[in-house]
Amino acid sequence: MIRSGAIAEKQTFPLDVLAESELSRSGFRLRFPDALETRYWRDIAAERLRDLRFIAIWGVAGYLFFGILLNLFVVQDPNWGGVAIQLCGASLLVLAISNLALRDRVAVTAREIALLVCCLACSLGAILVVSCKPGPVTLRDFLLSISPASFVLIFVRLRFHQATAFFLINIAVYALAVFSRQEISHDDATFLIGFMTTLLIPALIGSHGFERALRRIYLHRLLEQLRNDTLAAQNVTLTGLSYTDPLTRIANRRKLDEALSELVMQPGATGTMLLVDIDWFKAFNDRYGHLAGDACLCHVAACLSSHLRGADLLARFGGEEFAILLAESNVVDATETAEQLREAVQNLHFVVRDQHVNVTISIGVAVHHGMSTSDALIGAADKALYAAKHAGRNRVSIAGAEVELLGRRVG
Ligand code: GH3
Ligand code: MG
Ligand code: MG
Repeated sequence: MIRSGAIAEKQTFPLDVLAESELSRSGFRLRFPDALETRYWRDIAAERLRDLRFIAIWGVAGYLFFGILLNLFVVQDPNWGGVAIQLCGASLLVLAISNLALRDRVAVTAREIALLVCCLACSLGAILVVSCKPGPVTLRDFLLSISPASFVLIFVRLRFHQATAFFLINIAVYALAVFSRQEISHDDATFLIGFMTTLLIPALIGSHGFERALRRIYLHRLLEQLRNDTLAAQNVTLTGLSYTDPLTRIANRRKLDEALSELVMQPGATGTMLLVDIDWFKAFNDRYGHLAGDACLCHVAACLSSHLRGADLLARFGGEEFAILLAESNVVDATETAEQLREAVQNLHFVVRDQHVNVTISIGVAVHHGMSTSDALIGAADKALYAAKHAGRNRVSIAGAEVELLGRRVG
């Protein structure tokens, strides 16, 4: 088991290990190891911004609404000048700061500080209005000025360290305000400060629990997301493997079959199939061994691949046979390409047991026109390949129908 202290010092652990370790950790600390903390703030940035905008707009509306109701129905003989400064001044300040700070491009820290300043503007505004009241101040006035602070601590999603700073500043300003007014006796002042502390501390503890819960929910979500990412990456790899020939690393028969099905299903699609077979390959194996035969297959595959366009498909058809699907090609172009491939393989020399050797290939060409199934296309290319072998190998042969067409075009 990895201790979280050790993890905090080293940041080379993967995120899932850090997250698992944080979930198993008990204690009050509200900070992840650096790598995880950075990811946390990046991941929740958009959601947090939406929350802050919501809080700013509805907080100002609620603050104005309840402030006016309070002064109309509860406070006797309110100081309307002071009330106007407290409600409108604080609200305008909050809206101004929100408009400046609640933007995507504003740094996270600046945004969080702006939220704290907004909250302080509201709660300190209420305390200062009472402490600057021109007439005599009563115990009730000071009691009522506690409400914005408790409202903020209960409803606004301050981070715990912000909530602590907010709490301490409010208590300090409140104590100064209470002791600055002669009308409030020492006992009453102590009572008021004690009362405010008792009211705010549960909200402060709640803020800690809330942030801790949010962080733990995030960790669970992150672990799930990381697991899904790993699975998705494995799927991509497996899909790639399932379409790849393990020896030559080119496409395999499955990939070819899918491409052929797509080709024959598309009405009007053109394409040409070349069936390539290495000549006298059994003899090559017998002479140089199967490992040399394998290497030869890889050389031939690489050579064929390097002479094809990106849209063409080269696949290992089986054994020492390859299939090539030329995209949108006619019989003249296809025959030209097949000739180039045949020549390229003939000129390909590689070293086997300190000897420079080469192989040749025979190619059967069949054009897709009028073939309704992939088997028909393969069959036509196979027939042409057979003809090439019979005609002496190391040559290109074109499926019957196309020979006439080619003859007409060339003629
Ligand atoms: P032809 O010119 O008529 O095509 O003659 P050939 O010898 O190439 O044809 P044949 O069908 O008689 O032999 C094919 C050989 O290819 C036999 C088999 O051992 C070899 N072969 C098939 N797959 C592999 C492979 O993956 N690696 C190696 N080294 N040899 C293979
Ligand atoms: Mg063969
Ligand atoms: Mg062969």
